[in-house]
Amino acid sequence: MPTLWLDDIGADDLDVVGGKAASLGELTAAGLPVPSAFVVTADTYRSFIEESGIDTELFETVDIDSDDSQALAAAAERAQELILETDTPPSVREDLLAAYDQMGESDVAVRSSATAEDLPDASFAGQQETYLNVSRADLLDRVKECWASLFTQRAIYYRQEQGFSHVDVDIAVVVQEMVDAEKSGVMFTSHPSTGAPKAILEAAWGLGEAVVSGAVSPDNYIVDRESGEIEEVTVADKKVMCVRGEDGETIERSVPEEKRTERVLSADEIERLLAIGEQVEDHYGEPQDVEWAIDDDTVYVLQSRPITTIDEGTADSADDGGDGTTDATAAGVADGGEMEAPDAVRLTGIGSSPGTVTGTVSIVTKLDNLDKVSEGDIIVAEMTTPDMVPAMKRAAGIVTDEGGMTSHAAIVSRELGVPAVVGAEDATDRLRDGQTVTLDGDMGTVEQGSSVATEEDDEPEPAAQPSSEHSRIKPMTGTEVKVNVSIPEAAERAAATGADGVGLLRIEHMILSTDKTPARYVEDHGERAYIDEIVEGVRTAAEAFYPRPVRVRTLDAPSDEFRQLQGGEDEPSEHNPMLGYRGIRRSLDRPGEFKLELRAFQRLFDLGYDNVELMLPLVTDAEDILRAKSLMQEVGIDPAKRRWGVMVETPASALCIEELCETGLDFVSFGTNDLTQYTLAVDRNNGNVADRFDELHPAVLDLMSQVIGTCRENDVATSICGQAASKPEMVQFLVDEGVTSISPNIDAVRDVQHEVKRVEQRLLLESVR
Ligand code: PEP
Ligand code: MG
Repeated sequence: MPTLWLDDIGADDLDVVGGKAASLGELTAAGLPVPSAFVVTADTYRSFIEESGIDTELFETVDIDSDDSQALAAAAERAQELILETDTPPSVREDLLAAYDQMGESDVAVRSSATAEDLPDASFAGQQETYLNVSRADLLDRVKECWASLFTQRAIYYRQEQGFSHVDVDIAVVVQEMVDAEKSGVMFTSHPSTGAPKAILEAAWGLGEAVVSGAVSPDNYIVDRESGEIEEVTVADKKVMCVRGEDGETIERSVPEEKRTERVLSADEIERLLAIGEQVEDHYGEPQDVEWAIDDDTVYVLQSRPITTIDEGTADSADDGGDGTTDATAAGVADGGEMEAPDAVRLTGIGSSPGTVTGTVSIVTKLDNLDKVSEGDIIVAEMTTPDMVPAMKRAAGIVTDEGGMTSHAAIVSRELGVPAVVGAEDATDRLRDGQTVTLDGDMGTVEQGSSVATEEDDEPEPAAQPSSEHSRIKPMTGTEVKVNVSIPEAAERAAATGADGVGLLRIEHMILSTDKTPARYVEDHGERAYIDEIVEGVRTAAEAFYPRPVRVRTLDAPSDEFRQLQGGEDEPSEHNPMLGYRGIRRSLDRPGEFKLELRAFQRLFDLGYDNVELMLPLVTDAEDILRAKSLMQEVGIDPAKRRWGVMVETPASALCIEELCETGLDFVSFGTNDLTQYTLAVDRNNGNVADRFDELHPAVLDLMSQVIGTCRENDVATSICGQAASKPEMVQFLVDEGVTSISPNIDAVRDVQHEVKRVEQRLLLESVR
């Protein structure tokens, strides 16, 4: 059978219809109102390539070294051409058109549904092409285009890298009635972070694309599912909506003035959606994220996926009274057994990654084998290094003697979501292996014993509480709120915050974790391997966020960090590395090495990661930028076609901003860690002057204000990606000044989104008063 109707599809048909269609079939079988659809089965695709005889050539064509970008591009082009230029067999054509006629719709949506979707991360198996408003005349071509999407460069590269055989991956295509939605949105059937029985609905006018793509700020409704009470209604100013254009295409249009601030969902509609939410959650047995639409007073379910952001620890602690501790606390109690005197040891440092946790101390010195760190242990080290990341992932908490908020331990623990205290001075001396301690990553304390076992009845520490319910919900903001990522392992988690992209992806950690300087790495493994190392790390983030932009910064590590690696003896020994050979200065002095980084960017572009943006660190003036720009051109990057920009983190670059804008850059981003240290002459790593390190100093703010003003005049986007992006005062200042985006640490994204929204609303209010 070339086609199957949704009613005939069961969970066993995954191989035949792919993940997307199987889930629509399951929703239909559960009695939910899914728009009608039929599926062009995977067998149909398979017989298309086999019966036409193109299969042998197709699989030979894509059997290439996917690291060879030219070969990859040629293979993708040829494979797609083979599919697109081969006629659909008459029997399939007839069957498809008959099914289309039976559906009785003029326009349909055509979506690919790859059959390897049950494999981990195999959404890549097909590019998940979707075509909306497809007419009868275009139906066959669109179906073939879905088939061809199995062979884009990204898809071929991915399968090759993951070791999936091209021959084993098939693709089905869903042809579905288009719902001409009057209103639409998403519904979390349970609270998306705590799992509490509260439904969260987001709703806007028109087709769902506007809500899903983030083009519009939707209304937000919070409903207590147990009492049915609508607890909170936030009516947004909905400026745009997606509608069907005259030729059937999806277009964005302004919402008529009188409807912009009108509430979208009535109490009755909310009730009907909730009933559907109950049914979906009952059916799957776990909370769901449901896409819905309302057309002509009929509610439709378009898609449902499990909510993956529920924090089990938070959910548990919310249930048992909310002490805010994570799962590892319970493990710590069990492991720790007996109660220890609570304050026999009490250390204080800087709380650098939030959360409270109890676990067993595992002291790690540089020479130690990291295998001694077991799941749920608390790592105690002088300082962490990139090769400790795998152990840090297993750990329940991290304590270091040294370091501040921007140290390796602080950055990595925040990204991994592991509570951490840094700069605790003598933790490695005062704590001992096997001891049970409780670490509070908000307050910056480490205490002997388990606080849960000994202080059960105490009032919970306010800082250890899960954030308020409201703060867990993503608010829509005009100013973009992105997120910083330093280790590829954190990319998925960072993407799940709903951030508008990555404002800073540091590639230093990818290089440093090889334990070799770039020069030594290339000497030992060759240029190709070095490029691959960068491509692989960046690709993880570019993929997790696609199509949201990911701003990747070229190498910026000071020479003292390189000196600790193999090959470090060839690095300069500097009195003051912070004022020395780092960032763009090093890159321009070593064009050979720098061009390898640039070639990694070019390869990512070739692979289809058009969301990757290039950012240059520590520039002084336009001269630095123009030199880097010509190296970009030398490796084939066209600066006019790609989005690129620079960090503003030296006073010189801020004072020369007018000339910087003339280089043609698209954006600048404030690196306030460095801008502060260079403006105030305060070494960011020097504890003796730490109390003088103030990113909100009027001198720093003045420079930033001038830069934003000039950039606005020159149509250059502005951003911040330094640590201060996580501070509410800085957020207020920058939104007031008109910054384009803010990129905080992963743990601060939600709070910053709310802070931005609050300031934006105040500005709006002020403008009308
Ligand atoms: C900064 O200087 O603020 C910045 C983001 O860069 P880094 O911390 O990597 O120097
Ligand atoms: Mg910097």
